[in-house]
Amino acid sequence: MTNSPNRAFIALGSNLDNPIDQVQGAFEELAQLPHTSLIGRSSLYRSAPVGRLDQPDFINAVACIETLLAPLELLHALLAIEQRHGRVRESLNAPRTLDLDILIYADLQCDDKALTLPHPRMVERGFVLKPLMEIAPECDIPGLGPIAPLSAACDDQRLKRLAIPYP
Ligand code: ADP
Ligand code: MG
Repeated sequence: MTNSPNRAFIALGSNLDNPIDQVQGAFEELAQLPHTSLIGRSSLYRSAPVGRLDQPDFINAVACIETLLAPLELLHALLAIEQRHGRVRESLNAPRTLDLDILIYADLQCDDKALTLPHPRMVERGFVLKPLMEIAPECDIPGLGPIAPLSAACDDQRLKRLAIPYP
């Protein structure tokens, strides 16, 4: 636990077992995490799979939270939510019911295998940067700078914002 609230951004992704429900349910669970407030949620986006193309499209979104949980406490809480959604870890880029990644935690930079911050692959992924840009257009990615030019560099990636109201 930390003494004062920390702002963090979480990426949500799913491409199995009704992905829209998985992601909307995950937002509700983020809102219920202990010592944590959900303060922002992006629209849902549909993206084509990367790395392994023989799998369904993904639904992606980004959440902004304020939390007293320390980074590893937050990670473990997110892994527990993934488990409740029936996540099976098969291989990298495999289809999944729910993936929750910490993109940014305060201004922390760390290069640990268990927790790398900012998330190492976020800057090349339109499905992360576009929803992040939607809810935090002024944000700086620690060590990498303002989000706007990084997001613009992903403009060629196929991504569709879905017009689905929050439940
Ligand atoms: P991926 O999200 O890359 O497809 P997984 O969801 O299977 O892969 O995550 C594998 C491991 O990555 C997690 O158990 C976690 O310890 C580690 N990890 C490292 N950095 C992060 C991060 N920023 N957010 C979430 N998990 C991370
Ligand atoms: Mg993950």
